[in-house]
Amino acid sequence: MASPVDIVVVGGGAAGWSAALAATEAGARVALYEKLGESGGSSALSGGCLAFAGTDLQRAQGVTDSPDLLYRDLVEVGQGVNDPALVRTYCDAQLETCDWLRQAGVRFSPVIETASGQSVPRVHTVDPADMVRTLKAAAERTGLIAYHPNEAVAALETDPTGRVCGARLEGGASVAASRGVILASGGFAKNHDLLMHYAPQYAEAVFVAGAGSHGDGLRMGLEQGADVRDMDYVKGTFGKHPTDETNDHSLQAVYKGAIAVNQDGQRFVNESISYKLLGDAVMAQPWHTAYQIMDQGIFDTGDDRVRILDFGRRLEEGLFYVADTLEELATQIEIDPDVLVATVERYNGYVDAGHDPEFGRSNLVHKHGALRRIETGPFYAYPSTAVVFGTYCGLRIDTSAQVLRADGSGIDGLYAAGEVTGGFHGAAYMTGSALGKAVVFGRIAGAEAAGA
Ligand SMILES: Cc1cc2nc3c(=O)[nH]c(=O)nc-3n(C[C@H](O)[C@H](O)[C@H](O)COP(=O)(O)OP(=O)(O)OC[C@H]3O[C@@H](n4cnc5c(N)ncnc54)[C@H](O)[C@@H]3O)c2cc1C
Repeated sequence: MASPVDIVVVGGGAAGWSAALAATEAGARVALYEKLGESGGSSALSGGCLAFAGTDLQRAQGVTDSPDLLYRDLVEVGQGVNDPALVRTYCDAQLETCDWLRQAGVRFSPVIETASGQSVPRVHTVDPADMVRTLKAAAERTGLIAYHPNEAVAALETDPTGRVCGARLEGGASVAASRGVILASGGFAKNHDLLMHYAPQYAEAVFVAGAGSHGDGLRMGLEQGADVRDMDYVKGTFGKHPTDETNDHSLQAVYKGAIAVNQDGQRFVNESISYKLLGDAVMAQPWHTAYQIMDQGIFDTGDDRVRILDFGRRLEEGLFYVADTLEELATQIEIDPDVLVATVERYNGYVDAGHDPEFGRSNLVHKHGALRRIETGPFYAYPSTAVVFGTYCGLRIDTSAQVLRADGSGIDGLYAAGEVTGGFHGAAYMTGSALGKAVVFGRIAGAEAAGA
């Protein structure tokens, strides 16, 4: 039997360390178990984008935003499937959480302009691995945390009333937690069986996530009778070069004005929508692949400070097809040249007319940015499929991060935060909302479990 604590946290990603920090700040004694040798999970691998609205950083860049606009965007991107109470909770807590992160020592870079699902620029970027380390260091400064790397939690333990009162470790030892357990064990993007059960349409996608993303917390919650949310909406992110398994080589040139065409040379989607919905669309195309097509003018708007817009770097890496004419480009990517030229000409006509009768594209990304013609060579093609970075669905929670059963009752002593939870995103995902959800609900879970 390990030393008893007030709270056990399962998993050391952004959600786990946010929960641990909030709980220790409230005076609780916490044990955080991380099944890998190093904590960080998908959080540390991520793009470091967090969706916050109404910050001083936005104001400094002339961006007018508000929690209410964030709420409307999140519900719209989630297609109204998301739990409005969770979305409202996020919107109400995010500004305070942003300040709380800064107080802990997290540093933000200027707000990024181009992001999926946002009416105005609101991506606040951090060095993600550094953010996790900073949260961990802040929790350790309280003197109330015991950190256990290389120790996986295997199951939850309950008292005779059914209250979750501790955890059993993979080695067999038990640890008692008088105030409960917080599941912060991430998603299941590294669990092939679960993926094929919930998202068989992504069988041919690329999967990139933290090595511990096996869905352990989902399983443990289900064992306690938890309900789940959003399981039908596992989605990949469009823009991944199909040739490798790293977390790099994704481009969203469509958000700078490129079009997406399939192997038949046809557009198939409004390219300005959420890259998760674009992920669904590309998986339905022949060979599960498309090409992002642009001209030199669009290429020149790339941004080497933003990985998904760093066209120059991808060109140097030899990942683009390039040709002086559209016909030559089509030949290189084995599309009928007449078809590709006709597709581009038709699209340019829509840009001129300000109306895209085929797919309704009216902006570069979501609702901002004017469309650009594709007309000045050289022309570029970037092969693109979908990559599943995370699963964004899972245990149903309430606004205090307590895990719920199907009848809406709470499971005593059981909390969850981050990617192991469902209900917040709904049908799709806004850039920055998963890492944002991890810190916002991690903080809430820690404070609630501690009774703050
Ligand atoms: C490449 C990539 C880029 C991304 N970019 C962004 C982005 O820019 N913005 C955004 O909003 N989202 C992004 N995401 C998604 C986002 O990073 C995740 O949804 C979020 O970080 C999840 O945080 P988490 O703390 O819930 O889980 P994780 O960070 O995955 O942490 C979970 C931890 O729990 C551990 N664990 C699992 N099971 C157990 C167990 N049984 N016992 C003990 N420990 C366990 C894992 O090893 C892991 O360390 C990205 C994801 C990836 C992979």
